[in-house]
Amino acid sequence: MIKDHIQVWNNCLTLIKKSVPEKSFRTWFEPIKPVKLSDNILTIQVPNKFFYEWLEEHYIDQLKTAINQEIGKTARLEYQILVENHRKIGKVNTRQNENANATHSIDKIKNPFVIPGIKKLKVDPQLNPKYTFSNFIEGDCNSLLRSAGHAIANAPGSTAFNPLVMYGDVGLGKTHLAQAIGNEVVKRNPDKSVLYITTEKFTNQVIESIKNFNVNELTNFYQNIDVLIVDDIQFLANRTKTQDIFFNIFNALHQLGKQIILTSDRPPKDLQDVEQRLISRFKWGLTDELRSPDFETRLAILEEKIQKDNVKIPPDVVEYVCFNVKNNIRELEGVVISLMAQATLNKKEITINLAKEVLKQFVSQLNKELSLENITSLVAEHFEVSVESLQGKSRKRPYVLARQLSMYLAKNYTSHSLKEIGKNFGGRDHTTVIHSVRAVQNQIDTDHLFKDVVSQLEKKVELSLQV
Ligand code: ADP
Ligand code: MG
Repeated sequence: MIKDHIQVWNNCLTLIKKSVPEKSFRTWFEPIKPVKLSDNILTIQVPNKFFYEWLEEHYIDQLKTAINQEIGKTARLEYQILVENHRKIGKVNTRQNENANATHSIDKIKNPFVIPGIKKLKVDPQLNPKYTFSNFIEGDCNSLLRSAGHAIANAPGSTAFNPLVMYGDVGLGKTHLAQAIGNEVVKRNPDKSVLYITTEKFTNQVIESIKNFNVNELTNFYQNIDVLIVDDIQFLANRTKTQDIFFNIFNALHQLGKQIILTSDRPPKDLQDVEQRLISRFKWGLTDELRSPDFETRLAILEEKIQKDNVKIPPDVVEYVCFNVKNNIRELEGVVISLMAQATLNKKEITINLAKEVLKQFVSQLNKELSLENITSLVAEHFEVSVESLQGKSRKRPYVLARQLSMYLAKNYTSHSLKEIGKNFGGRDHTTVIHSVRAVQNQIDTDHLFKDVVSQLEKKVELSLQV
């Protein structure tokens, strides 16, 4: 009897299953669909290009062995990549989760997120419905995380991506993607309890629970969440007690096979004052960066937005804006909103010239960039110290402070890398720069006199940008 593609693939799966870990099998092999078998060529369908690349990179041996065994030495494998269309992605692996109704037996927990009056522990996920996969444009800058996010939404907790840690600069889509995963889980499986929380809010809950002697209650509450999304974990820095409690929750959830999604503005290894034992846990899953989008992706993002808002902006203006706003998608959107406001309120026609005007106010800092020299001399002048002392190694208090401030301003007003900034200020490394920026930020938060000094300096910097 001649075997068809389905039988052949099923036999391959049985073989492959023996040689890859269960989670990886579920993530990488279950979503594959056999398509056809002819002339000893087996065609399989994979959800996206990233999936195919991952298989080729990590599982080619297992695939080869299985296929050779099933079809013979002349066997070949071909991939078909499912083309993602915006509105209908995620056809992959729509497994229903069997234990959706498990747990949730606690109904007396006091927690700000529990909707009162409902018996079963029902959590308000705190998600913003506007963040979805369908309006999260794919580009090289985000494709790995986006695919991983999809896999998670299909089978939270059961993929190899647990925890999923995404990091990157502000305005590059961390919150959007994290919430899109949450929204997708809720849509597919309303019984799952999903919770999105910022690290700030979590910290406040911890402080509150310590005050009220009910830390255990808080921890218990979190252990009932199926998908926990914690945004901006860089704010765990210096918060030992919060980290402790978070560590316990993390471990408990991970052990229970619950999904954890974290975002941060820097790679985990650069998280200041976050305990190593916590950071090392992140290696259990997938950590990747959301990078700045390239021109085409920026264009696609803006076009989607313009279409959704149903506004008319000439294509050359859209291109002009995308060309000039490079590193922050939020800013990109901001420029378009200002353009629309100008056009509606001031009845101006949307032209490249108008865009130029708007961009000038909007991204003046980005385009007319300050040099490190400008900043150094501004700060030196303000503190009445020499430029050399800022670039030198002296550890005397006034120099250290002025130097830290210079690094802080350099980080915020130039696009120099941390490494370059460190080098400029006494040949220090990037961790010193991160530390300085943080130290300044902390002092701004706690010392209003210092905050005034910084504002004055920032004004000077901004003035010097306008000339
Ligand atoms: P972050 O949390 O990294 O600071 P956000 O998630 O808040 O960034 O994103 C900033 C803005 O850019 C949001 O309005 C978001 O919808 C938009 N955005 C980011 N990435 C994309 C993308 N790939 N497609 C569409 N919009 C995006
Ligand atoms: Mg964010």
